[in-house]
Amino acid sequence: MSRRERSKEFSGLPTETIAALRKKIKGWYAKHGRDLPWRSTSDPYPIWISEVMLQQTQVATVLPYFASFLGAFPTIFDLAAAEESKVFRYWEGLGYYRRARQLHAAAKRVVDEFEGKFPTNISDVQSLPGIGRYTAGAICSFAFDQSQPIVEANTQRLYARLLAIETELSTSENQAKLWAFAEQLIPVKGCGPFNHAIMDLGAMICKPQNPECSLCPIQDECKTFASGKQNSIPTPKRPKQYEARSELVALLQDSKGRWLLRKCEPGERWAGLWDFPRFDVTDCSSNEQIKTFVSQECFQRFGRHCNLLEKWKTIQHAVTRYRITLDCYRATWVSKGKILQENQEISWVETSCLNDFALSSTGRKISQWLAKAAAP
Ligand code: SF4
Repeated sequence: MSRRERSKEFSGLPTETIAALRKKIKGWYAKHGRDLPWRSTSDPYPIWISEVMLQQTQVATVLPYFASFLGAFPTIFDLAAAEESKVFRYWEGLGYYRRARQLHAAAKRVVDEFEGKFPTNISDVQSLPGIGRYTAGAICSFAFDQSQPIVEANTQRLYARLLAIETELSTSENQAKLWAFAEQLIPVKGCGPFNHAIMDLGAMICKPQNPECSLCPIQDECKTFASGKQNSIPTPKRPKQYEARSELVALLQDSKGRWLLRKCEPGERWAGLWDFPRFDVTDCSSNEQIKTFVSQECFQRFGRHCNLLEKWKTIQHAVTRYRITLDCYRATWVSKGKILQENQEISWVETSCLNDFALSSTGRKISQWLAKAAAP
């Protein structure tokens, strides 16, 4: 179905309302739009980096990462040629490392298949790893001023309220409606700034809770404002069901005082990043059982038993559907002999060098504590 046909099928707002919305949104943006570093360029490379970083991450968090990432990888050639561990190091703290892995893979493809020139055709853009319909539309509208619609968290909420969609937004029917509306709303020219404008309006005015309707330029066109249902539209997502897990980190040193790190393998959580030896002790019912289990596991993995000493710190964190209680123990080796390295990458690292490694998020926290404890 062509874009024109889909828009026709969507019987949303009349043409004159759409024209009024465009005018008011543009006027509001000219006065209130956010001045963000990735908006002052039409180079698709930094625009793409910013869009990937902004997936599931707030603007304020992204700002320093964006600057340091581009400092380390100023061109797509630099990113494509970089070691994965370096890419991870500059991504560390943003989480969702799959994004960094896909960004790296996409940079390699652009260099190999498009001679390093970012594609301008939306189908080519969307064929790159980690780029979905929204990101492709954002890059093509911001960089090339193509008339591409976008639907992401902020615009989705704004559209849902404008149209008063009272049912769960993730259904295919509602998604089709939202995209069709975005297609109807996007102008033919000035599409990049227009898409920035609706994102800002969603983020700054039509906020998830207590939207600032009194400051909203499109109040007159908003069906939800008319019904007063701002706090129930969109329908809140069902809360995530978390599963409790108990995990343990053993802080093990060699005779020179260096810490044992292992690289997480493909398929593991934090694949490609370094971590202190970590054990899932959810099924252990007593401290004794934990000690025996960890010692045996240590023998399996490294060829030596270990002895857990005192519990040093506890970290509570959530990863995907797990709520994890992570106990960090100082530990010593019990048996002697060479540490096994088969089928795994390990490293012995001095406290002062932990910063050079791309660590898991909890690994970084622990390394900072170790550095603090070692400080004179
Ligand atoms: Fe959102 Fe209120 Fe504006 Fe409607 S009037 S779009 S609910 S801020």
